Amino acid sequence: MFVVHLYCGNIIYTPACGAVAANEHGIVAVEDGRVKGVFDRIPSAYEGAPVTDYGDKIIIPGFCDIHLHAGQLPNMGIGYDCELIDWIGKYAYQVEQSMNALGFAHRCYAKLISDLWLNGITRSVVLGTYYRQTNDLLFQMFMKSGLSAYIGKSVCDRSPTGVADETTENAKQDLLMLADTYKDQKGLVRHILSPTYVPGCTPEIMEFIGHLAQEYDLPVTSHLCENRTEVQEVHRLHPEAPDYASVYREYGLLGQKTTIMAHCIHTTGHEAELLRDCGVYVAHCPHSNLNLSSGVMPLRKYLNMGIRVGLGSDISAGHTLNMMSTMVAAIQGSKMRWMINPQEESVTTREALYLATKGGGSVFGKVGSFEEGYEFDALVIDDGNLYDFTDRTLWERVERFIFRGDDRNIVARYVSGSEVARPQL
Ligand code: FE
Repeated sequence: MFVVHLYCGNIIYTPACGAVAANEHGIVAVEDGRVKGVFDRIPSAYEGAPVTDYGDKIIIPGFCDIHLHAGQLPNMGIGYDCELIDWIGKYAYQVEQSMNALGFAHRCYAKLISDLWLNGITRSVVLGTYYRQTNDLLFQMFMKSGLSAYIGKSVCDRSPTGVADETTENAKQDLLMLADTYKDQKGLVRHILSPTYVPGCTPEIMEFIGHLAQEYDLPVTSHLCENRTEVQEVHRLHPEAPDYASVYREYGLLGQKTTIMAHCIHTTGHEAELLRDCGVYVAHCPHSNLNLSSGVMPLRKYLNMGIRVGLGSDISAGHTLNMMSTMVAAIQGSKMRWMINPQEESVTTREALYLATKGGGSVFGKVGSFEEGYEFDALVIDDGNLYDFTDRTLWERVERFIFRGDDRNIVARYVSGSEVARPQL
């Protein structure tokens, strides 16, 4: 009786940033949802094991989107003539408020989860809404989907736009309820604490969330140094702090537990060192950063410093869940920085694939690679429609898929060893 399952195809993954491991017509052996190894031919120990043969198709790790807003789905592609604070005031708050209605939220979440599946995003870090009942709904729907997600309630008990979404007391009650409800949830869908950003959170709620992270052993995600006006607002609100990142650190929200900070565009040298020294994951959101004219994150600098980086769609300040498009935007943004500063070498396509898989996947543990012991999250790519009348290497086919492919090229999706069908929600 075999517990090992073999998957055959052209296998490619990125064990380190910039490194590619490739096995043409190779085999991935998977046991109990985890990779046992990648082989050129079937090892004698596994002869007779069940095989799924994907022929000439390409098998890559699943994509990880480590920053997106579930409650913002209806705003994708809207309002990008604004900068961040204006955009939040004119667009984000309106749609967040409409998410208080369960029926509307259900329709939006069903579309979101279906689109994540379609785009091969097997894992995501999802900021929910301010509302108790719709956050609970989001958890339930993800648990039905077969996809993996960390889900957090957005917290905003003060606001530079003048519209605070909740009282501090309500936020505390809702956070406690979620922490208690999902404290034993150790599977694919888990709870994360997600204060929106420092200008949106009182010191009282940040302190509370810091304690909650310790008490319930919860990861944390938020926004950092996205926009210059936002950074100025943090200095005004917290004159005692040397910088924005130090405010989070002071309240136990920067590296005391697994932490993901989105954007990190306008960081000082000290803040970048804090990100590195505290082991914080940076969620690089290149589409969002350009759409709201926030800036171009110093990706090469962070990689050279050894800061952990993954990619985020940041919908709906980002306009697409297409992770290949996000990778391309990360590459192109990096090239823009190189053109302005030739010492800042641009990132490569190999590095971008790493960021979209193992870079962000590390948030979830051993995820995003086909090294032994990693969870088998995988996408099967049929690039037949991209054929260009030329013999291509396996890596060239992957490059072409990243720059030219879309969700139609993704023909199967696996999460932790199980194939995931289109969610019926
Ligand atoms: Fe965001």
